[in-house]
Amino acid sequence: MPPRTFSEILLTGLAPDGGLTIPETYPQINASELESWRPLDYPALACKILSLFMDDIPAADLHALITRTYTPEAFGSQDITPVQTLEPGLHLLRLSNGPTLAFKDIAMQLLGNLFEYILAKNHDELNILGATSGDTGSSAEYAMRGKRGIRVFMLSPYGKMSGFQTSQMFSLQDKNIFNIAIEGVFDDCQDIVKAVSNDRAFKQQYHIGTVNSINWARIAAQIVYYFKAYFAVTRSNQERVSFSVPSGNFGNIFAGHVARMMGLPIKHLILATNENDVLDEFFRTGLYRPRTTVETRHTSSPSMDISKASNFERFIFDLTGRDAMRLKELWKSVDQGGSFDLFGTALWTKTKDFGFVSGASHHAARIATIRECYQKYDVLVDTHTADGLKVGMAFREQDVPLICLETALPVKFAESIREAVGFEPPCPSGFDNLESLPQRFERMPPDANQVKQFIVKQVESADPTDTP
Ligand SMILES: *Cc1c(COP(=O)(O)O)cnc(C)c1O
Repeated sequence: MPPRTFSEILLTGLAPDGGLTIPETYPQINASELESWRPLDYPALACKILSLFMDDIPAADLHALITRTYTPEAFGSQDITPVQTLEPGLHLLRLSNGPTLAFKDIAMQLLGNLFEYILAKNHDELNILGATSGDTGSSAEYAMRGKRGIRVFMLSPYGKMSGFQTSQMFSLQDKNIFNIAIEGVFDDCQDIVKAVSNDRAFKQQYHIGTVNSINWARIAAQIVYYFKAYFAVTRSNQERVSFSVPSGNFGNIFAGHVARMMGLPIKHLILATNENDVLDEFFRTGLYRPRTTVETRHTSSPSMDISKASNFERFIFDLTGRDAMRLKELWKSVDQGGSFDLFGTALWTKTKDFGFVSGASHHAARIATIRECYQKYDVLVDTHTADGLKVGMAFREQDVPLICLETALPVKFAESIREAVGFEPPCPSGFDNLESLPQRFERMPPDANQVKQFIVKQVESADPTDTP
């Protein structure tokens, strides 16, 4: 596609042919620049990194947006993403102290402010339509609540989310947030989003947009904490570190890949999956074979229960040396429900040059890891982080610091925590009475037309002063 500005990409998402967008080149950070970034605090570092990608936002405006987003009030500490050392050479990068207690807040909180800023500038409005089975939906709602020019319509499967996740979303009383509980499963919700998005006339007339994990701005925002963590555990830029990343849609670890491509001295990017091991299979064997819905398993690290990894296409683009035709060829079979196998090809040997290694975890290993981590370090981790720790430890090398990314807090997955350690996970202050708050949601059958009618009704009855 012809190049677009950052703001255009932020609002439109996909390329016209349905492909994902990616910067034309990755900015290169030289040694002296890297050295000068070392002492910066989180917002200052974020300004340096994000101004390289967000090219059409004036520096002063971007600075204001970033300092408004990354505050100790929203993220629980001055460090925003603090590093906790478990033992010498082994660290936890704590990414889950934002408003919904999962790492997605780090990107989503910035996205909320970016959307509001750009919509105000364009005198435009946006109706975000999404489907969620947990973390993404609540993270999006907390990022967009009270924002001018934005409404959120979030579909979730009625009665299928955990009590904590349900109350987190349904207790929001903001008038621009609409929870729609669909009498069906997550796939029914996703199908409705697709059906509405495929109605181009409706989409255009009602300014429908999404905030799903293929949004480039979300990846960009996540690059920052790889740099921050690197500086936290090293003394000089001669040192290399490895990161272990609990992975689902390949968004988080792809941000690590970009950091590495920019010149951050990363040795290994260790990809951890749960029982849904489509990505582990690729990095072990060269075969990328997306699963069907029936093959996708419900696990105790549910935010990693994916059948295909939506951001993976971006990595393969880099792997082919940015050969769009080759990528298109490979995805032709993927889009038809097939697979591709790179084993034995030149591309397969190249995956090693990008620093990727992988492994898969499973329920018993997850529970054992939570228990061992608690017994050994007195630190309680959630089920997703446990998968990252488990796989990360298998690839740990002497003299290479290992940084394991924490992607959610244990309180969100109380049942597994009880199974592992025999007591309730602690509840951060402000969340203790969540499940007793009044709830606000619409219940609907799985019918795209009813969802459309609901959107129309809300848009047409809205207070015109809500639009910037
Ligand atoms: C979304 C999520 C993941 C997976 O992240 P990707 O960017 O999709 O790879 C892992 N853990 C938790 C808790 C999540 O919410």
